[in-house]
Amino acid sequence: MSKKKLADKVTEAARDAGVRFVRFMYTDNGGIIRAKASHIDGLRDRIDDGIGLTVAMQAMNMMDQLAEVDGMGPVGEIRLTPDPASFRILPYAPNTAAMTVDMLTIDGKAWDACPRSFLKRQIKVAEGHGISLQMVVEFEWSMAEKVIDFNTGEEKFKPVDESLCFSTTGFMVTQHVINELVEALEDQGIQVEQFYAELGHGQQELSIRHADPLTAADNHIFARETIRNVSYNNGLYASLAPKPFLDQAGNGGHIHFSLWDAEGERNLMYDPDKPYGFSELGLQFVAGILDHLPALLAITCPTYNSYHRLQPHFWASAYTAWGPDNREGAVRVASRFHSNEEGSANAELKAADLAANPYLAFGALIAAGVDGIRRKLDPGEPIFVDPGTLTEDERQRRGIKRFPTTLSEALDNLEKDDVLLDALGSLLAKSYIAVKRKEYETFSQHDAAFETKHHFWKF
Ligand code: GLU
Ligand code: MG
Repeated sequence: MSKKKLADKVTEAARDAGVRFVRFMYTDNGGIIRAKASHIDGLRDRIDDGIGLTVAMQAMNMMDQLAEVDGMGPVGEIRLTPDPASFRILPYAPNTAAMTVDMLTIDGKAWDACPRSFLKRQIKVAEGHGISLQMVVEFEWSMAEKVIDFNTGEEKFKPVDESLCFSTTGFMVTQHVINELVEALEDQGIQVEQFYAELGHGQQELSIRHADPLTAADNHIFARETIRNVSYNNGLYASLAPKPFLDQAGNGGHIHFSLWDAEGERNLMYDPDKPYGFSELGLQFVAGILDHLPALLAITCPTYNSYHRLQPHFWASAYTAWGPDNREGAVRVASRFHSNEEGSANAELKAADLAANPYLAFGALIAAGVDGIRRKLDPGEPIFVDPGTLTEDERQRRGIKRFPTTLSEALDNLEKDDVLLDALGSLLAKSYIAVKRKEYETFSQHDAAFETKHHFWKF
């Protein structure tokens, strides 16, 4: 269907459903989901023309502090132009729908600092190698209630339970909210696969169906919104921050990916004749990710708080290692399911969280992986133990590096990674790094309470 026809159809569907406002949602360099909403009466024109936005928003960090970026000040405007294919009526917000947007210049071209356009470019790069991808992010979050500390009068977040990993008492505590949440996801055409109560206090995990990278990134945004909104409507607070409670298990946003041929018919990661059924092309792609990981982390684990999650022995990964079903490796090659050997061949980047802008994270992951294919990289021997239990000498011999331990260190690496910088392009790279540097600077001047307070409910 042409974009015009789809725009007509979406406008009609919104009107029929009694929608009053349609949110034009974008995710910024700080990983924050933001929106401007169009009233239904002007919607049809706004789909073509977009809604105006100051260029400065791509220089704003997760504290609404403006980083210094040339050309991103009070003068200048872009257009938030929706993709009607992403239209969803929001089951948790009365009379409201939403679409994800591209950031376009006033003359209708992709703006150089647009994250969604960056992902589209990387999808094309992969297509140039005859590869289409399937991707998805897994959601882990901490479900909490707000309580008042009677001694200080301060408001605090408290996990809803102290249940054990996968324990059914954990299911019991949140089942009414999860039921509503899953219904809301289904109503938005997002197919749910699994749910369980995870290890940490109040921690939940939900997985959804994989899709092409653009749809998967859009689904990430819609699902994150749904998790937070449905929880809030039930008097609870869902934090998808990497480490909302510093003494509890962190929240991962593991990225699953598989490489397919151009038609999406053959899984190029699957080769039954190779160890673990994992193809050489798959290994090269993984090797590219591992090679760029010290810099890639600045995008997939993008906040100050992210680095408190990436500790050895926390099942979140802390080393540039890979292995079949190794949950301490940065990349886990997942075991396949007999009912669909080829379809279920995939790998998982564990070194990723839900503070990441999914368009940037997916795009950068693809750029790193494709570089591995281009250079025919070898990821080295798979690791069958927790890499944190190896001696430093042993890790060095196997080429395994400890991740950067701060966002600042990861940004230093990103500034030196020409492949990722080239893929991002200069304006996006420059603004992203400036935004993240500003965040780091602020958090490093404050204590842990300030850090968790400002991360808790932003992601
Ligand atoms: N919560 C862990 C993380 O931070 C992941 C646990 C698991 O699902 O293996 O990534
Ligand atoms: Mg998990």
